[in-house]
Amino acid sequence: TFIILESKTENELNIYSGRKSYLIEPLINEFEKNKKVKVNVITGKSDEFIEKLKIEKNNPQADILLTTDIARLSRAKENNLFEKVNSEILKKNIPKKYISNDEDWFGLSVRARPIIYSKERVNINELKNYEQLAEKKWKNRICMRSSNNVYNQSLISYMILNLGEKKTEEWIENLVKNFAKKPYGGDRDQIRAIAHGQCDVTVANTYYLANMLNSKNKKDKESAKKVSIFWPNQTTFGTHINLSGAGIIKGSKNYKNALAFLEFLSSKKAQEIYSKNIHEYSIRNDVKPSETISKFGKFYADDSKLEEIGKKIKIAIYFASKHNWR
Ligand code: FE
Repeated sequence: TFIILESKTENELNIYSGRKSYLIEPLINEFEKNKKVKVNVITGKSDEFIEKLKIEKNNPQADILLTTDIARLSRAKENNLFEKVNSEILKKNIPKKYISNDEDWFGLSVRARPIIYSKERVNINELKNYEQLAEKKWKNRICMRSSNNVYNQSLISYMILNLGEKKTEEWIENLVKNFAKKPYGGDRDQIRAIAHGQCDVTVANTYYLANMLNSKNKKDKESAKKVSIFWPNQTTFGTHINLSGAGIIKGSKNYKNALAFLEFLSSKKAQEIYSKNIHEYSIRNDVKPSETISKFGKFYADDSKLEEIGKKIKIAIYFASKHNWR
């Protein structure tokens, strides 16, 4: 019986996923096919998994935490949840700027957060950079989702890194004055609000727009056609980008399988699934963006090491609340 137990555990992999199951299912199917490992996934809210793993510390029930956004990867790391991983394959497939300094979390896809604007009411020549959205000319013309969400927390951190704290505070203060309405809903809701004429400009992740453009929902498709993407800060520090990523949990009982899965996620095959199914950018140079994403054009992305953004999240949250970005 000892042997049976042993072999059973060897063929398992348990994942806590902050990413929805339809996003990761094709990846897991592909992995199971080649590796003959039984993958168990629990999907839910990333922050709740982080709390769960803190409690499970001496007996973790998952081998991998799969999540989006530097803010969350950093939070998991700060809580000492990730195991250092030594993998030549991961280091070969993933650029250094997408890996934590301690090599305990790994970026698996890239998302960009540019300006999205109304084709009807905004002339592209009016747009320049994120800073400029705080100017008076945009009064009552900007929709932004809440700063409770990590996406805007990371955006503010990026501003702090590139502009410094004082200028970023001023930026938030004036940007909030330009909001057309109280922050409500997700990135897609901001795009819908532009389409409905409630505001002219927002900042949102590209895959949301790509998903709306390919949506079976006619209204969403129509809304998406009314907006366009502007790549900000092309002559300065580059457009803000973020990551989805993962780390192996300290004390993982299926370490070998966990490592094999991470390595698989960085492979060309898996990265093609990310780009085609989820409309995110690949971490690899040899994988092209989806057709829809390609149409958004090439852009210059912020080149700083993304882990640095994670280190500014706390102060970003403080600035947002201080200046009433709800
Ligand atoms: Fe998202």
